[in-house]
Amino acid sequence: MNHPEKKYDAIVVGGGHNGLVAATYLARAGKTVLVLEACAEPGGATTSVKPFPEYDARLSRYSYLVSLLPDQIVTDLGIRFRTLERPVASYTPYRRDDREDGLLVAAEWDAATADSFRRLTGSDREGKAWREFYHEIAGLARRLAPTMLQPLKSASKLKAELGLPEVWRSLMEVPIGDVIRERFGDDLVQGVVLTDALIGTFVSADDLQANRCFLYHLIGNGTGQWRVPQGGMGALVAELLRVATVAGVEIKPHSKVTALESGPAGVRVETSSGTRYVAKDLLFAAAPQHLARLRGRPEPQSLEGSQLKINMLVTRLPRLKSGVDPRLAFAGTFHVNESFSQFEAAYARARGGEMPLPLPLEMYCHTLTDPTILSPELVAKGFHTLTLFGLHTPASLFDADPARARALAGTRAIASLNQYLVDPLESVLAPCRDGSAAIEVKSPLDLEKDISLPRGNIFHRDLDFPFLDEDDTAVTDRPRWGAETDDPHIYLAGAGARRGGGVSGIAGHNAAMAVLANALSGSSAQSLSTCVQTGLAKSSCSARLDTAEQIRTLPRAPDRPLRNAS
Ligand SMILES: Cc1cc2nc3c(=O)[nH]c(=O)nc-3n(C[C@H](O)[C@H](O)[C@H](O)COP(=O)(O)OP(=O)(O)OC[C@H]3O[C@@H](n4cnc5c(N)ncnc54)[C@H](O)[C@@H]3O)c2cc1C
Repeated sequence: MNHPEKKYDAIVVGGGHNGLVAATYLARAGKTVLVLEACAEPGGATTSVKPFPEYDARLSRYSYLVSLLPDQIVTDLGIRFRTLERPVASYTPYRRDDREDGLLVAAEWDAATADSFRRLTGSDREGKAWREFYHEIAGLARRLAPTMLQPLKSASKLKAELGLPEVWRSLMEVPIGDVIRERFGDDLVQGVVLTDALIGTFVSADDLQANRCFLYHLIGNGTGQWRVPQGGMGALVAELLRVATVAGVEIKPHSKVTALESGPAGVRVETSSGTRYVAKDLLFAAAPQHLARLRGRPEPQSLEGSQLKINMLVTRLPRLKSGVDPRLAFAGTFHVNESFSQFEAAYARARGGEMPLPLPLEMYCHTLTDPTILSPELVAKGFHTLTLFGLHTPASLFDADPARARALAGTRAIASLNQYLVDPLESVLAPCRDGSAAIEVKSPLDLEKDISLPRGNIFHRDLDFPFLDEDDTAVTDRPRWGAETDDPHIYLAGAGARRGGGVSGIAGHNAAMAVLANALSGSSAQSLSTCVQTGLAKSSCSARLDTAEQIRTLPRAPDRPLRNAS
Protein backbone atom coordinates (compact mmCIF):
# COMPACT_ATOMS: atom_id res chain seq x y z
CA MET A 1 0.00 0.00 0.00
CA ASN A 2 1.26 3.47 -0.80
CA HIS A 3 1.96 5.84 2.08
CA PRO A 4 0.07 9.15 2.04
CA GLU A 5 1.90 11.93 0.21
CA LYS A 6 3.95 14.34 2.28
CA LYS A 7 4.23 17.93 1.06
CA TYR A 8 7.29 20.14 1.09
CA ASP A 9 8.33 23.45 -0.36
CA ALA A 10 11.26 21.73 -2.02
CA ILE A 11 12.50 18.22 -2.63
CA VAL A 12 16.18 17.69 -3.32
CA VAL A 13 16.98 14.48 -5.18
CA GLY A 14 20.49 13.31 -4.30
CA GLY A 15 22.27 13.80 -0.99
CA GLY A 16 25.72 14.51 -2.41
CA HIS A 17 27.44 17.62 -1.14
CA ASN A 18 25.61 19.84 -3.65
CA GLY A 19 22.22 18.49 -2.61
CA LEU A 20 23.03 19.20 1.03
CA VAL A 21 24.24 22.72 0.24
CA ALA A 22 21.06 23.50 -1.72
CA ALA A 23 18.83 22.06 0.98
CA THR A 24 20.50 24.06 3.75
CA TYR A 25 20.26 27.38 1.92
CA LEU A 26 16.56 26.77 1.29
CA ALA A 27 15.82 25.63 4.82
CA ARG A 28 17.63 28.69 6.16
CA ALA A 29 15.28 30.81 4.05
CA GLY A 30 12.33 29.17 5.77
CA LYS A 31 11.46 26.47 3.25
CA THR A 32 10.46 22.97 4.23
CA VAL A 33 12.98 20.72 2.51
CA LEU A 34 13.31 16.98 1.98
CA VAL A 35 16.47 15.32 0.65
CA LEU A 36 16.04 11.91 -0.95
CA GLU A 37 19.25 9.93 -1.27
CA ALA A 38 19.47 6.57 -3.03
CA CYS A 39 22.42 5.21 -1.03
CA ALA A 40 22.57 4.21 2.63
CA GLU A 41 24.84 7.18 3.36
CA PRO A 42 24.67 10.70 1.93
CA GLY A 43 27.79 12.22 0.40
CA GLY A 44 27.89 10.81 -3.13
CA ALA A 45 31.39 11.34 -4.50
CA THR A 46 32.51 13.10 -1.31
CA THR A 47 32.72 10.31 1.22
CA SER A 48 35.35 8.82 3.49
CA VAL A 49 35.40 5.13 4.30
CA LYS A 50 37.54 2.53 6.05
CA PRO A 51 38.08 0.26 3.07
CA PHE A 52 40.41 -2.09 4.97
CA PRO A 53 38.49 -3.18 8.08
CA GLU A 54 41.56 -4.26 10.05
CA TYR A 55 43.06 -0.78 9.79
CA ASP A 56 41.76 2.41 11.38
CA ALA A 57 42.34 4.52 8.26
CA ARG A 58 39.53 6.65 6.82
CA LEU A 59 40.29 7.36 3.19
CA SER A 60 38.53 9.80 0.86
CA ARG A 61 37.12 7.09 -1.35
CA TYR A 62 36.38 9.16 -4.46
CA SER A 63 37.19 12.91 -4.50
CA TYR A 64 40.22 13.85 -2.44
CA LEU A 65 41.35 17.48 -2.92
CA VAL A 66 39.43 20.75 -2.63
CA SER A 67 39.86 23.93 -4.61
CA LEU A 68 36.51 25.01 -6.00
CA LEU A 69 34.52 25.27 -2.78
CA PRO A 70 34.11 29.04 -2.28
CA ASP A 71 34.96 30.39 1.16
CA GLN A 72 31.66 32.24 0.83
CA ILE A 73 29.68 28.98 1.06
CA VAL A 74 31.71 27.78 4.03
CA THR A 75 31.00 31.08 5.79
CA ASP A 76 27.32 31.29 4.80
CA LEU A 77 26.58 27.79 6.04
CA GLY A 78 28.84 28.00 9.06
CA ILE A 79 30.47 24.66 8.39
CA ARG A 80 33.52 23.81 10.45
CA PHE A 81 35.59 22.49 7.61
CA ARG A 82 39.25 23.29 6.97
CA THR A 83 41.47 22.66 4.03
CA LEU A 84 45.22 22.56 4.40
CA GLU A 85 47.86 23.88 2.05
CA ARG A 86 50.38 21.48 0.56
CA PRO A 87 53.97 22.76 0.59
CA VAL A 88 54.61 21.11 -2.76
CA ALA A 89 52.45 21.64 -5.84
CA SER A 90 53.86 18.75 -7.85
CA TYR A 91 56.73 16.38 -8.48
CA THR A 92 57.23 14.61 -11.79
CA PRO A 93 59.89 11.91 -11.91
CA TYR A 94 61.72 11.40 -15.19
CA ARG A 95 64.65 9.57 -16.73
CA ARG A 96 66.73 11.49 -19.27
CA ASP A 97 70.14 10.58 -20.63
CA ASP A 98 70.28 7.69 -18.16
CA ARG A 99 69.75 10.15 -15.31
CA GLU A 100 66.88 9.70 -12.82
CA ASP A 101 65.56 13.04 -11.63
CA GLY A 102 62.31 14.87 -11.06
CA LEU A 103 60.64 18.20 -11.75
CA LEU A 104 59.75 19.70 -8.40
CA VAL A 105 57.31 22.61 -8.25
CA ALA A 106 56.88 24.15 -4.81
CA ALA A 107 53.57 25.74 -3.83
CA GLU A 108 55.37 29.11 -3.92
CA TRP A 109 58.05 29.60 -6.58
CA ASP A 110 61.49 29.22 -4.98
CA ALA A 111 65.14 28.54 -5.76
CA ALA A 112 64.66 24.76 -5.66
CA THR A 113 61.86 25.00 -8.23
CA ALA A 114 63.93 27.22 -10.51
CA ASP A 115 66.85 24.81 -10.22
CA SER A 116 64.56 21.88 -10.95
CA PHE A 117 63.37 23.48 -14.23
CA ARG A 118 66.97 24.26 -15.14
CA ARG A 119 68.12 20.67 -14.60
CA LEU A 120 65.29 19.40 -16.79
CA THR A 121 65.52 21.85 -19.66
CA GLY A 122 69.08 23.20 -19.49
CA SER A 123 68.04 26.86 -19.14
CA ASP A 124 65.76 29.24 -17.26
CA ARG A 125 63.44 29.77 -20.22
CA GLU A 126 60.86 27.13 -19.39
CA GLY A 127 60.68 28.18 -15.74
CA LYS A 128 60.11 31.77 -16.81
CA ALA A 129 57.39 30.67 -19.23
CA TRP A 130 55.74 28.73 -16.39
CA ARG A 131 55.67 31.71 -14.06
CA GLU A 132 54.32 34.05 -16.71
CA PHE A 133 51.63 31.61 -17.81
CA TYR A 134 50.29 30.92 -14.33
CA HIS A 135 50.60 34.58 -13.33
CA GLU A 136 48.31 35.53 -16.22
CA ILE A 137 45.81 32.82 -15.33
CA ALA A 138 45.83 33.86 -11.67
CA GLY A 139 44.79 37.35 -12.74
CA LEU A 140 41.77 35.96 -14.53
CA ALA A 141 40.97 33.50 -11.74
CA ARG A 142 40.82 36.28 -9.16
CA ARG A 143 38.26 38.16 -11.23
CA LEU A 144 36.26 35.15 -12.40
CA ALA A 145 35.91 33.24 -9.13
CA PRO A 146 33.44 35.62 -7.42
CA THR A 147 31.11 35.46 -10.44
CA MET A 148 30.54 31.75 -9.85
CA LEU A 149 28.04 32.60 -7.12
CA GLN A 150 26.22 35.25 -9.14
CA PRO A 151 23.68 34.99 -11.95
CA LEU A 152 25.23 34.00 -15.26
CA LYS A 153 26.45 36.59 -17.72
CA SER A 154 26.80 36.28 -21.45
CA ALA A 155 30.23 35.44 -22.81
CA SER A 156 30.68 38.92 -24.29
CA LYS A 157 29.62 40.70 -21.10
CA LEU A 158 31.80 38.57 -18.86
CA LYS A 159 34.76 38.89 -21.21
CA ALA A 160 34.43 42.67 -21.20
CA GLU A 161 34.06 42.79 -17.41
CA LEU A 162 37.11 40.62 -16.76
CA GLY A 163 39.18 42.82 -19.02
CA LEU A 164 41.85 40.27 -19.90
CA PRO A 165 41.05 39.48 -23.53
CA GLU A 166 44.30 37.62 -24.28
CA VAL A 167 44.00 35.32 -21.28
CA TRP A 168 40.32 34.81 -22.07
CA ARG A 169 41.22 33.82 -25.62
CA SER A 170 43.80 31.30 -24.41
CA LEU A 171 41.42 29.67 -21.98
CA MET A 172 38.05 29.87 -23.73
CA GLU A 173 38.62 30.18 -27.45
CA VAL A 174 41.85 28.46 -28.56
CA PRO A 175 42.34 24.72 -27.89
CA ILE A 176 44.42 24.45 -24.73
CA GLY A 177 46.74 22.00 -26.49
CA ASP A 178 47.74 24.73 -28.96
CA VAL A 179 48.24 27.24 -26.16
CA ILE A 180 50.45 24.86 -24.20
CA ARG A 181 52.55 23.96 -27.25
CA GLU A 182 52.98 27.64 -28.01
CA ARG A 183 53.96 28.64 -24.48
CA PHE A 184 56.16 25.70 -23.45
CA GLY A 185 58.91 23.81 -25.27
CA ASP A 186 59.49 20.76 -23.13
CA ASP A 187 57.26 17.69 -23.55
CA LEU A 188 57.27 16.89 -19.83
CA VAL A 189 56.52 20.45 -18.75
CA GLN A 190 53.77 20.64 -21.37
CA GLY A 191 52.27 17.45 -19.94
CA VAL A 192 52.30 18.69 -16.34
CA VAL A 193 50.39 21.78 -17.48
CA LEU A 194 48.01 19.70 -19.59
CA THR A 195 47.06 17.40 -16.72
CA ASP A 196 44.54 19.89 -15.36
CA ALA A 197 42.74 19.82 -18.70
CA LEU A 198 42.30 16.06 -18.73
CA ILE A 199 41.35 15.05 -15.21
CA GLY A 200 38.18 13.02 -15.68
CA THR A 201 37.85 14.26 -19.27
CA PHE A 202 38.45 11.80 -22.10
CA VAL A 203 39.52 14.08 -24.93
CA SER A 204 42.60 15.08 -26.88
CA ALA A 205 44.48 18.22 -25.83
CA ASP A 206 43.06 19.90 -28.92
CA ASP A 207 39.42 19.56 -27.93
CA LEU A 208 37.78 22.65 -26.35
CA GLN A 209 36.26 20.36 -23.75
CA ALA A 210 39.79 20.14 -22.33
CA ASN A 211 39.75 23.96 -21.95
CA ARG A 212 36.67 23.75 -19.75
CA CYS A 213 38.27 21.16 -17.51
CA PHE A 214 41.45 23.24 -17.39
CA LEU A 215 39.56 26.37 -16.43
CA TYR A 216 37.76 24.74 -13.50
CA HIS A 217 41.05 23.36 -12.24
CA LEU A 218 42.63 26.81 -12.06
CA ILE A 219 40.04 29.23 -10.77
CA GLY A 220 38.96 27.79 -7.42
CA ASN A 221 38.55 30.56 -4.84
CA GLY A 222 40.52 32.84 -7.13
CA THR A 223 43.77 30.95 -6.53
CA GLY A 224 43.29 27.56 -8.16
CA GLN A 225 45.15 26.06 -5.23
CA TRP A 226 44.26 22.43 -4.51
CA ARG A 227 44.12 21.84 -0.78
CA VAL A 228 43.82 18.85 1.50
CA PRO A 229 40.46 18.43 3.27
CA GLN A 230 41.29 18.07 6.93
CA GLY A 231 39.79 14.81 8.17
CA GLY A 232 39.16 13.69 4.57
CA MET A 233 36.22 14.39 2.28
CA GLY A 234 33.88 12.72 4.75
CA ALA A 235 34.53 15.64 7.10
CA LEU A 236 32.87 17.98 4.62
CA VAL A 237 29.78 15.81 4.37
CA ALA A 238 29.57 15.36 8.14
CA GLU A 239 29.52 19.12 8.55
CA LEU A 240 27.01 19.65 5.75
CA LEU A 241 24.75 17.05 7.37
CA ARG A 242 25.08 18.83 10.69
CA VAL A 243 24.06 22.25 9.39
CA ALA A 244 21.33 20.77 7.20
CA THR A 245 19.67 18.93 10.05
CA VAL A 246 20.00 21.89 12.42
CA ALA A 247 18.28 24.00 9.76
CA GLY A 248 15.43 21.49 9.70
CA VAL A 249 16.17 19.62 6.48
CA GLU A 250 14.68 16.14 6.46
CA ILE A 251 17.10 13.62 4.97
CA LYS A 252 16.03 10.19 3.83
CA PRO A 253 18.69 7.70 2.78
CA HIS A 254 17.73 4.44 0.97
CA SER A 255 15.32 6.58 -1.07
CA LYS A 256 16.05 6.24 -4.74
CA VAL A 257 13.66 8.35 -6.79
CA THR A 258 12.15 6.11 -9.45
CA ALA A 259 9.29 8.22 -10.79
CA LEU A 260 8.68 11.91 -11.30
CA GLU A 261 5.67 13.93 -12.41
CA SER A 262 5.40 17.65 -12.82
CA GLY A 263 2.36 19.91 -13.22
CA PRO A 264 1.39 23.56 -12.85
CA ALA A 265 1.31 23.34 -9.06
CA GLY A 266 4.56 21.51 -8.54
CA VAL A 267 6.14 18.07 -8.60
CA ARG A 268 5.48 14.59 -7.28
CA VAL A 269 8.15 11.94 -6.86
CA GLU A 270 8.04 8.31 -5.92
CA THR A 271 10.89 6.32 -4.38
CA SER A 272 11.81 2.68 -4.87
CA SER A 273 9.84 1.79 -1.73
CA GLY A 274 6.67 3.25 -3.28
CA THR A 275 6.60 6.31 -1.01
CA ARG A 276 5.40 9.50 -2.67
CA TYR A 277 6.23 13.08 -1.87
CA VAL A 278 5.02 16.34 -3.37
CA ALA A 279 6.60 19.76 -3.42
CA LYS A 280 6.43 23.04 -5.19
CA ASP A 281 9.99 22.75 -6.46
CA LEU A 282 12.34 19.91 -7.24
CA LEU A 283 16.10 20.38 -7.09
CA PHE A 284 17.77 17.55 -8.92
CA ALA A 285 21.25 17.09 -7.44
CA ALA A 286 21.98 13.78 -9.15
CA ALA A 287 23.13 13.53 -12.77
CA PRO A 288 21.00 15.26 -15.45
CA GLN A 289 20.96 11.97 -17.39
CA HIS A 290 18.89 10.43 -14.57
CA LEU A 291 16.55 13.42 -14.58
CA ALA A 292 16.05 13.09 -18.34
CA ARG A 293 15.22 9.41 -17.94
CA LEU A 294 12.71 10.13 -15.16
CA ARG A 295 11.07 12.77 -17.35
CA GLY A 296 11.00 10.52 -20.42
CA ARG A 297 13.32 12.91 -22.26
CA PRO A 298 16.43 12.16 -24.32
CA GLU A 299 19.53 12.08 -22.16
CA PRO A 300 22.07 14.88 -22.66
CA GLN A 301 25.02 13.69 -24.70
CA SER A 302 28.19 13.42 -22.68
CA LEU A 303 31.66 11.98 -22.62
CA GLU A 304 32.05 8.83 -20.61
CA GLY A 305 34.07 8.73 -17.43
CA SER A 306 37.71 7.82 -18.03
CA GLN A 307 39.54 7.52 -14.74
CA LEU A 308 40.76 4.93 -12.36
CA LYS A 309 40.73 5.66 -8.63
CA ILE A 310 43.04 3.60 -6.45
CA ASN A 311 43.11 3.91 -2.67
CA MET A 312 46.01 2.44 -0.74
CA LEU A 313 47.41 2.11 2.74
CA VAL A 314 51.18 1.64 2.94
CA THR A 315 53.44 0.66 5.83
CA ARG A 316 55.95 3.30 4.70
CA LEU A 317 56.45 5.58 1.72
CA PRO A 318 58.36 3.92 -1.13
CA ARG A 319 61.79 5.30 -2.01
CA LEU A 320 62.33 6.88 -5.42
CA LYS A 321 64.99 6.18 -8.02
CA SER A 322 65.67 9.91 -8.30
CA GLY A 323 66.80 9.87 -4.68
CA VAL A 324 64.41 12.65 -3.66
CA ASP A 325 62.90 12.41 -0.19
CA PRO A 326 59.53 10.64 -0.65
CA ARG A 327 58.00 13.05 1.87
CA LEU A 328 58.70 15.82 -0.62
CA ALA A 329 57.79 13.91 -3.78
CA PHE A 330 54.45 12.60 -2.53
CA ALA A 331 53.33 15.70 -0.61
CA GLY A 332 52.06 17.37 -3.77
CA THR A 333 50.67 15.87 -6.95
CA PHE A 334 53.04 13.16 -8.17
CA HIS A 335 52.74 12.96 -11.97
CA VAL A 336 53.68 9.69 -13.66
CA ASN A 337 54.01 9.21 -17.40
CA GLU A 338 52.04 12.38 -18.04
CA SER A 339 54.16 14.15 -20.64
CA PHE A 340 52.21 15.81 -23.47
CA SER A 341 53.14 13.11 -25.97
CA GLN A 342 52.35 10.34 -23.48
CA PHE A 343 48.90 11.83 -22.91
CA GLU A 344 48.17 12.00 -26.61
CA ALA A 345 49.45 8.44 -27.14
CA ALA A 346 47.39 7.14 -24.22
CA TYR A 347 44.29 8.88 -25.58
CA ALA A 348 44.79 7.42 -29.06
CA ARG A 349 45.35 3.95 -27.66
CA ALA A 350 42.28 4.09 -25.38
CA ARG A 351 40.15 5.39 -28.25
CA GLY A 352 41.32 2.39 -30.21
CA GLY A 353 39.89 0.14 -27.50
CA GLU A 354 43.11 -0.69 -25.63
CA MET A 355 44.22 0.07 -22.09
CA PRO A 356 46.94 2.79 -22.14
CA LEU A 357 50.54 1.62 -21.81
CA PRO A 358 52.18 3.24 -19.93
CA LEU A 359 49.15 4.37 -18.00
CA PRO A 360 49.29 8.12 -17.17
CA LEU A 361 48.45 8.80 -13.56
CA GLU A 362 48.88 11.07 -10.63
CA MET A 363 49.11 10.31 -6.98
CA TYR A 364 49.39 12.10 -3.65
CA CYS A 365 49.76 11.29 -0.01
CA HIS A 366 47.00 12.76 2.13
CA THR A 367 48.60 11.81 5.43
CA LEU A 368 51.77 13.83 4.83
CA THR A 369 49.63 16.96 5.16
CA ASP A 370 46.86 15.66 7.38
CA PRO A 371 47.58 12.54 9.45
CA THR A 372 44.23 12.78 11.29
CA ILE A 373 42.63 10.22 8.99
CA LEU A 374 44.87 7.55 10.57
CA SER A 375 44.74 6.25 14.13
CA PRO A 376 47.64 7.45 16.32
CA GLU A 377 48.97 3.87 16.30
CA LEU A 378 49.21 3.80 12.49
CA VAL A 379 50.81 7.24 12.47
CA ALA A 380 53.37 6.09 15.05
CA LYS A 381 54.22 3.06 12.91
CA GLY A 382 54.86 5.31 9.88
CA PHE A 383 51.83 4.22 7.82
CA HIS A 384 50.54 6.50 5.04
CA THR A 385 47.68 6.59 2.58
CA LEU A 386 48.24 6.96 -1.15
CA THR A 387 45.57 8.23 -3.53
CA LEU A 388 46.07 7.38 -7.20
CA PHE A 389 44.06 8.80 -10.09
CA GLY A 390 44.65 7.11 -13.45
CA LEU A 391 43.71 8.94 -16.66
CA HIS A 392 42.44 7.89 -20.08
CA THR A 393 40.80 4.68 -18.93
CA PRO A 394 37.32 5.21 -20.43
CA ALA A 395 34.30 3.18 -19.32
CA SER A 396 34.11 1.45 -22.70
CA LEU A 397 37.37 -0.40 -21.93
CA PHE A 398 35.60 -2.08 -19.02
CA ASP A 399 32.31 -3.08 -20.65
CA ALA A 400 33.22 -6.52 -22.01
CA ASP A 401 34.73 -7.92 -18.83
CA PRO A 402 34.60 -5.38 -15.98
CA ALA A 403 36.55 -7.42 -13.42
CA ARG A 404 39.32 -8.42 -15.83
CA ALA A 405 39.67 -4.90 -17.19
CA ARG A 406 39.78 -3.47 -13.66
CA ALA A 407 42.56 -5.91 -12.76
CA LEU A 408 44.47 -5.03 -15.94
CA ALA A 409 44.10 -1.30 -15.33
CA GLY A 410 45.26 -1.72 -11.72
CA THR A 411 48.30 -3.73 -12.82
CA ARG A 412 49.17 -1.15 -15.48
CA ALA A 413 48.86 1.71 -13.01
CA ILE A 414 51.20 0.03 -10.53
CA ALA A 415 53.68 -0.88 -13.28
CA SER A 416 53.62 2.73 -14.46
CA LEU A 417 54.37 3.96 -10.96
CA ASN A 418 57.01 1.32 -10.25
CA GLN A 419 59.10 2.61 -13.16
CA TYR A 420 60.20 5.42 -10.84
CA LEU A 421 60.38 3.60 -7.50
CA VAL A 422 63.23 1.78 -5.79
CA ASP A 423 60.71 -0.07 -3.64
CA PRO A 424 57.99 -1.54 -5.81
CA LEU A 425 54.60 -0.48 -4.56
CA GLU A 426 53.66 -4.09 -3.76
CA SER A 427 56.46 -4.22 -1.18
CA VAL A 428 55.00 -1.38 0.91
CA LEU A 429 51.26 -2.09 0.76
CA ALA A 430 49.85 -2.94 4.17
CA PRO A 431 48.93 -6.62 4.46
CA CYS A 432 45.30 -7.52 5.17
CA ARG A 433 44.12 -10.42 7.32
CA ASP A 434 42.77 -12.39 4.38
CA GLY A 435 46.17 -12.37 2.68
CA SER A 436 45.31 -9.53 0.28
CA ALA A 437 46.99 -6.12 0.23
CA ALA A 438 45.43 -2.81 1.35
CA ILE A 439 44.51 -1.52 -2.09
CA GLU A 440 41.13 -0.89 -3.72
CA VAL A 441 40.64 -0.08 -7.39
CA LYS A 442 37.55 1.71 -8.72
CA SER A 443 36.83 1.76 -12.45
CA PRO A 444 34.33 4.09 -14.15
CA LEU A 445 31.81 1.24 -14.08
CA ASP A 446 32.29 0.87 -10.32
CA LEU A 447 31.50 4.57 -9.93
CA GLU A 448 28.34 4.11 -11.95
CA LYS A 449 27.27 1.13 -9.87
CA ASP A 450 28.23 2.55 -6.45
CA ILE A 451 27.22 6.21 -6.72
CA SER A 452 25.22 6.49 -9.97
CA LEU A 453 27.77 8.51 -11.97
CA PRO A 454 26.64 7.96 -15.59
CA ARG A 455 29.36 5.85 -17.24
CA GLY A 456 31.54 6.92 -14.32
CA ASN A 457 31.70 10.59 -15.37
CA ILE A 458 33.04 12.37 -12.28
CA PHE A 459 31.34 15.63 -13.30
CA HIS A 460 28.02 13.87 -14.12
CA ARG A 461 28.26 15.23 -17.67
CA ASP A 462 30.48 17.44 -19.83
CA LEU A 463 31.54 20.65 -18.14
CA ASP A 464 30.19 23.94 -19.50
CA PHE A 465 31.95 27.27 -19.59
CA PRO A 466 30.81 29.54 -16.74
CA PHE A 467 28.82 31.90 -18.93
CA LEU A 468 25.73 31.87 -21.11
CA ASP A 469 25.95 31.23 -24.81
CA GLU A 470 24.92 34.35 -26.69
CA ASP A 471 21.80 32.50 -27.95
CA ASP A 472 20.72 31.71 -24.39
CA THR A 473 20.73 35.33 -23.31
CA ALA A 474 17.96 36.10 -25.78
CA VAL A 475 15.63 33.45 -24.31
CA THR A 476 14.73 35.39 -21.19
CA ASP A 477 15.59 38.62 -19.47
CA ARG A 478 15.33 36.98 -16.05
CA PRO A 479 18.55 36.23 -14.22
CA ARG A 480 19.83 32.75 -14.94
CA TRP A 481 21.82 30.64 -12.52
CA GLY A 482 22.64 27.64 -14.68
CA ALA A 483 20.16 25.60 -12.64
CA GLU A 484 16.99 26.28 -14.63
CA THR A 485 15.37 23.65 -16.85
CA ASP A 486 12.45 23.91 -19.28
CA ASP A 487 10.15 23.08 -16.35
CA PRO A 488 9.64 26.06 -13.99
CA HIS A 489 9.45 23.69 -11.00
CA ILE A 490 12.59 21.66 -11.75
CA TYR A 491 16.16 22.83 -11.19
CA LEU A 492 19.56 21.23 -11.65
CA ALA A 493 21.45 21.38 -8.37
CA GLY A 494 24.32 18.95 -8.88
CA ALA A 495 27.61 18.75 -10.75
CA GLY A 496 25.74 18.56 -14.08
CA ALA A 497 24.46 22.14 -13.77
CA ARG A 498 26.36 24.90 -15.56
CA ARG A 499 29.28 25.81 -13.27
CA GLY A 500 28.83 22.49 -11.43
CA GLY A 501 31.50 19.78 -11.42
CA GLY A 502 34.00 19.13 -8.69
CA VAL A 503 33.64 19.57 -4.97
CA SER A 504 32.36 23.12 -4.93
CA GLY A 505 28.81 23.36 -3.63
CA ILE A 506 28.40 26.01 -6.33
CA ALA A 507 25.66 24.09 -8.15
CA GLY A 508 23.76 23.58 -4.89
CA HIS A 509 24.11 27.24 -3.93
CA ASN A 510 23.05 28.47 -7.35
CA ALA A 511 20.01 26.19 -7.56
CA ALA A 512 18.84 27.42 -4.17
CA MET A 513 19.32 31.02 -5.31
CA ALA A 514 17.34 30.32 -8.49
CA VAL A 515 14.44 28.90 -6.46
CA LEU A 516 14.49 31.82 -4.02
CA ALA A 517 14.83 34.39 -6.78
CA ASN A 518 11.84 32.87 -8.55
CA ALA A 519 9.77 32.78 -5.40
CA LEU A 520 10.54 36.40 -4.66
CA SER A 521 10.29 37.85 -8.14
CA GLY A 522 6.52 37.32 -8.61
CA SER A 523 3.58 38.47 -6.55
CA SER A 524 2.21 34.98 -6.01
CA ALA A 525 0.95 33.70 -2.70
CA GLN A 526 4.03 31.56 -2.59
CA SER A 527 6.37 34.52 -2.74
CA LEU A 528 4.39 36.24 -0.01
CA SER A 529 4.52 33.19 2.18
CA THR A 530 8.24 32.97 1.55
CA CYS A 531 8.60 36.55 2.64
CA VAL A 532 6.63 35.91 5.79
CA GLN A 533 8.71 32.86 6.57
CA THR A 534 11.93 34.72 6.04
CA GLY A 535 10.73 37.65 8.05
CA LEU A 536 10.79 40.14 5.18
CA ALA A 537 8.32 42.99 5.13
CA LYS A 538 5.67 42.52 2.43
CA SER A 539 6.74 45.67 0.67
CA SER A 540 10.19 44.20 0.15
CA CYS A 541 8.68 41.17 -1.51
CA SER A 542 7.61 42.93 -4.62
CA ALA A 543 11.14 44.05 -5.24
CA ARG A 544 12.83 41.75 -7.65
CA LEU A 545 15.85 40.08 -6.14
CA ASP A 546 18.22 39.04 -8.82
CA THR A 547 21.61 38.88 -7.25
CA ALA A 548 23.05 36.41 -4.83
CA GLU A 549 24.03 39.21 -2.52
CA GLN A 550 20.46 40.37 -2.12
CA ILE A 551 19.23 36.88 -1.43
CA ARG A 552 22.05 36.10 0.90
CA THR A 553 21.27 39.08 3.06
CA LEU A 554 17.70 37.94 3.68
CA PRO A 555 17.01 37.64 7.39
CA ARG A 556 17.51 34.02 8.37
CA ALA A 557 14.63 31.90 9.57
CA PRO A 558 15.47 30.45 12.98
CA ASP A 559 17.18 27.05 12.90
CA ARG A 560 14.65 24.33 13.50
CA PRO A 561 15.23 21.14 15.48
CA LEU A 562 15.91 17.94 13.57
CA ARG A 563 12.73 16.63 12.01
CA ASN A 564 12.41 12.89 11.98
CA ALA A 565 15.42 12.03 9.81
CA SER A 566 15.11 8.30 9.25
C1 LIG B 1 37.02 9.22 -8.23
C2 LIG B 1 36.67 10.67 -8.17
C3 LIG B 1 37.63 11.59 -7.81
C4 LIG B 1 37.31 12.95 -7.79
N1 LIG B 1 38.23 13.83 -7.32
C5 LIG B 1 37.88 15.11 -7.11
C6 LIG B 1 38.71 15.98 -6.38
O1 LIG B 1 39.75 15.58 -5.86
N2 LIG B 1 38.31 17.27 -6.24
C7 LIG B 1 37.15 17.74 -6.77
O2 LIG B 1 36.87 18.92 -6.65
N3 LIG B 1 36.31 16.91 -7.43
C8 LIG B 1 36.63 15.61 -7.58
N4 LIG B 1 35.76 14.75 -8.16
C9 LIG B 1 34.48 15.27 -8.67
C10 LIG B 1 33.50 15.58 -7.55
O3 LIG B 1 33.64 14.65 -6.53
C11 LIG B 1 32.06 15.55 -8.07
O4 LIG B 1 31.94 16.32 -9.25
C12 LIG B 1 31.12 16.12 -7.01
O5 LIG B 1 31.37 15.53 -5.76
C13 LIG B 1 29.69 15.94 -7.41
O6 LIG B 1 28.89 16.31 -6.32
P1 LIG B 1 27.31 16.33 -6.41
O7 LIG B 1 26.79 16.57 -5.06
O8 LIG B 1 26.88 17.22 -7.49
O9 LIG B 1 26.91 14.87 -6.91
P2 LIG B 1 27.25 13.43 -6.34
O10 LIG B 1 28.35 13.47 -5.37
O11 LIG B 1 27.38 12.55 -7.53
O12 LIG B 1 25.95 13.06 -5.53
C14 LIG B 1 24.74 12.73 -6.17
C15 LIG B 1 23.96 11.87 -5.23
O13 LIG B 1 22.71 11.56 -5.85
C16 LIG B 1 22.35 10.23 -5.49
N5 LIG B 1 21.39 9.76 -6.48
C17 LIG B 1 21.60 9.42 -7.77
N6 LIG B 1 20.43 9.07 -8.35
C18 LIG B 1 19.48 9.20 -7.42
C19 LIG B 1 18.07 8.98 -7.41
N7 LIG B 1 17.42 8.56 -8.50
N8 LIG B 1 17.38 9.19 -6.26
C20 LIG B 1 18.03 9.63 -5.13
N9 LIG B 1 19.37 9.84 -5.09
C21 LIG B 1 20.07 9.64 -6.22
C22 LIG B 1 23.68 9.50 -5.50
O14 LIG B 1 23.63 8.32 -4.74
C23 LIG B 1 24.62 10.55 -4.91
O15 LIG B 1 24.72 10.42 -3.51
C24 LIG B 1 36.02 13.38 -8.15
C25 LIG B 1 35.04 12.45 -8.46
C26 LIG B 1 35.35 11.10 -8.47
C27 LIG B 1 34.29 10.11 -8.78
